Amino acid sequence: MRALVLRGPRQFAVEDAPTPLELEPDDVLCRVDTTFICGTDPHIINGDFPGFWPPSFPFIPGHEWSAVVVETGTRARSLGWAAGDRVCAISHCGCGACRNCLRGRYNLCLNYGHADRGHRQYGHITPGAYAEYVRASVKSLVRVPDGFDLETAACVDPLSIALYTVKRSRLQPGDDLLVMGTGPQGLMAILVAKALGAGRIIAVGSGARLDLARSLGAIPIDYRAGRVVEDVRGLTDGLGVPAVLECAGTAAALRACCLAAAKGGVVSVIGIPHEDPTLPMKRIVLDEIEIVGDRANPNTAEDALALLVNGRVDLTPLITHRFPLAQFARGLEVFERREDGAVKVAINP
Ligand SMILES: [Zn+2]
Ligand SMILES: [Zn+2]
Repeated sequence: MRALVLRGPRQFAVEDAPTPLELEPDDVLCRVDTTFICGTDPHIINGDFPGFWPPSFPFIPGHEWSAVVVETGTRARSLGWAAGDRVCAISHCGCGACRNCLRGRYNLCLNYGHADRGHRQYGHITPGAYAEYVRASVKSLVRVPDGFDLETAACVDPLSIALYTVKRSRLQPGDDLLVMGTGPQGLMAILVAKALGAGRIIAVGSGARLDLARSLGAIPIDYRAGRVVEDVRGLTDGLGVPAVLECAGTAAALRACCLAAAKGGVVSVIGIPHEDPTLPMKRIVLDEIEIVGDRANPNTAEDALALLVNGRVDLTPLITHRFPLAQFARGLEVFERREDGAVKVAINP
C-alpha cells in the first residue's frame, strides 16, 4: 500500500509500505477514505516528542480518519462488524482491563504504551491512517450511518475532543462561554457550544481565524490589543464568564483564563503550554476557580457524530483544503502556514 512513512524528525515520504493484514481478534482492516491533519501532527513529524510520539521509526502517523472496513478479526466479526461497514475513529484504545479502563477513563489507561497488554494510540504510538489501509481495534471505531459523508465523519476525533472540553467546563444552557484560542479546536468548540445552547460565546484570537470565529457567531476579542481580561469583564458587568475553554496553549492564555472566569467558574484546558504559567493562586482559591485538564475524547465520539448527523453542527466552514496522499508535503505546508485561510486540511489516501 502507499503510506506516509516517517523515518526520522522531518524526514518523510509517501512510499510503499506493507499492508497490515494480520489482525488481532478485536481488529478490523480499513480502507481509508479521509485523514485530516491535526495540530499535533506537525509536532510528531518534527520530532518534538522524542522516543514518545512516535516511540520509534519508521512510523505512519495520522489519527483523524474515516474508512470502510474490508476485513474483520474473529471477535470483531462476532460483535457484528463486517466488510463494508463505514467507520470513523478516535486515537485512544485502552487496554480494557485496568482500573481506569473499567471506569470508562480509557484515555488515562494505566497500561499506556504497552502494546503487549492491548493498549493502542493510533497515529501516536500505533501506526495511523496516512495510508491506504489501517488496522484498528473496534474499541476505537464508531459506525457512520449510510448517506452521511465520510469526509465530514473523519472530523469526529477533533470534534469529540471539542465536545469533551465543553462538557468538562460544565456549561449550562444560556451560560456565557469564553473560548481562548481560535485554532481548529477553539473553532470546533464554538460550534459545539452553540449546539449545546450557550449564551454569548466570546472568542479570543487574531487575524483570519478570529474573523471566522465571528462569522460562526462569537463575539471577537483580538488578544494583540493586550486587554483580554478587561474586555471580558467589560462584556459581563465585571463578573467574568462561568465556563472558560483554554485552547491556545500558552502560559499567558491560561493565566488570562483564570482571571476572566467568573467566581466559581471552570477553566477547561486542552492547550498544553511549553512552560508552566504563573497562576493567580489567591484568586483561584478564594474565588473557587476550577482548572480541569482534558485529555482527548473519552466516550464522546458517538455524541459528536450525532451532532453532525442531525445537523446540529456544520463543519463546512472549517473544512478548507483537500490533497491526495501523494501531495501530503504540500498539504502539511498549507496547514502549517495557514495559507489561504487553512483550518482543517483533508488528505485522501
Ligand atoms: Zn488530533
Ligand atoms: Zn487500561
